[in-house]
Amino acid sequence: MPIVERLGGTLQLLQRAFTREKQATADISHELRTPLAALLATMELALRKPRPAEHANVACHKCGAPMIKRTGRFGPFLGCSRYARPAPAPKKGKGKKGTNAAAVAAAALPADACDGILNIDAKGFVVAPSQPPLLTDLPCPKCQSPMNLRQGIRGPWLGCSQFPKCRGRGKWADVPEEKQKELVKALEAHDKSHPVPIIRTLDGRPLTDAKGKPLPDAPKVDQLVEGIAIPNSPDEGRTDEGGESDVLEGAA
Ligand SMILES: [Zn+2]
Ligand SMILES: [Zn+2]
Repeated sequence: MPIVERLGGTLQLLQRAFTREKQATADISHELRTPLAALLATMELALRKPRPAEHANVACHKCGAPMIKRTGRFGPFLGCSRYARPAPAPKKGKGKKGTNAAAVAAAALPADACDGILNIDAKGFVVAPSQPPLLTDLPCPKCQSPMNLRQGIRGPWLGCSQFPKCRGRGKWADVPEEKQKELVKALEAHDKSHPVPIIRTLDGRPLTDAKGKPLPDAPKVDQLVEGIAIPNSPDEGRTDEGGESDVLEGAA
């Protein structure tokens, strides 16, 4: 048989095999298309979940380092860029008595780690952390734990120190007058020694007032975030159909 004919036969065989292959690929791709699309969507979501950290032009009130906009269980907040996740404590401890979990965690943290956190209010402005309350010796009416005293807009108020586990509240008006006077004095001194920090930008512009509320001309946190979040991946927006047919056309 002349070599040309043999070659022709081989080519025909190849052609047929190739056609079958193409059909099979098309069938498979059709069957896979739907679950693949679902899988891709799930993966994209999973990959997107830990949102990229966004540096904000807000100085940490504890250490002055830039804050990073993060999203937690209760929405967005600012966390210090020096925040360090404590290394998981070793599970094999020699006797539980000697190990203090907190001490171990603290020891595992880098020396310059900072746990500064700032809340973002519902309108998107950064607010200063509230002052720590004054612990009193007045018992909670619900659980008998000591109650905290805070200065509110409508005067001092008592709340259970076990909040949010216990939502017990005390009646300030029911506290004897003498005790009230004593507590108000103590609270004033306490608040003075724990002043509300003024939150500032990295270049020192104040963002909050003496009460910790956002200043009228303060920009929103989103306006203080440097740059733009990591752009969408080039694959985003491309449908699975487009992708598949590209592949098939390339093969043909
Ligand atoms: Zn800090
Ligand atoms: Zn209580």
